Amino acid sequence: MPELPDVELYKRHLDATCLGRTIRHVAVGDARILAEISATELARRLEGTRIIASRRHGKHLLVDLGPPGWLTLHFGMTGWLKHFTDDEDDPPYDRVHFDFADGHHLAYINARLLGRVGLAADADAFVAAEGLGPDALDPRFDLAAFEQALAGRKRDVKSLLMDQEVMAGIGNIYSDEILYQADINPRTRCDRLDTGARQHLFEQIKAVLETAISTGAGAERLVDHLPGSFLIPHREKDGRCPRCGGQIASAKFSGRTAYYCPRCQPDVT
Ligand SMILES: [Zn+2]
Repeated sequence: MPELPDVELYKRHLDATCLGRTIRHVAVGDARILAEISATELARRLEGTRIIASRRHGKHLLVDLGPPGWLTLHFGMTGWLKHFTDDEDDPPYDRVHFDFADGHHLAYINARLLGRVGLAADADAFVAAEGLGPDALDPRFDLAAFEQALAGRKRDVKSLLMDQEVMAGIGNIYSDEILYQADINPRTRCDRLDTGARQHLFEQIKAVLETAISTGAGAERLVDHLPGSFLIPHREKDGRCPRCGGQIASAKFSGRTAYYCPRCQPDVT
């Protein structure tokens, strides 16, 4: 499911293939994906506009279209973007389809319809209205800001990393990887992390996300691209820890299943 590194790769795909192109026609394949706008209204507002720029915040991709505002894309569990030039390459579950004036196409694909497509007047106002915290890779989200986000929190660190209001972009999969690389048990309470652990965790947030982006997260077979030292390819029942060879354990956090190595990430609670 798309988290920050995946959405960053979608952004780069969009920038590389669609910037500067003029939208000629918008077809909505399933209006249930739309947020507070009808299919007719979305098409009316977008047709004739040009893709000027894009910006990612957490798991959201925002596309600047000039006067009508920003197209907002959230990918839910199964969403992705595909640019193509031949109509025959149009993938299934194409929920919103953009035809450009020069014959290129862009499809927003989402099998499970859990994402959202909308239109916002202003990107900053959209981020504020969604209640999103700072993007996890924003340079302004530094160690001091992270310390502030952690201060006084008694909840488990796994849930905190996934809380989009605290920092935006990290979900179930990458929070597991970050905690694994930081040698921290997902159950650890935030207020039990000492100075060294907090700094190490902060560094791993940045390092894991940047490594996933640079090695090509969002590729069809993500696990083929990640470093051998990553937990993600071993996040499964009977998986083995790439560091110590021990058996990977799982536990439920906020309704999601976390995977971790009990030996490398001892429970200190
Ligand atoms: Zn281990």
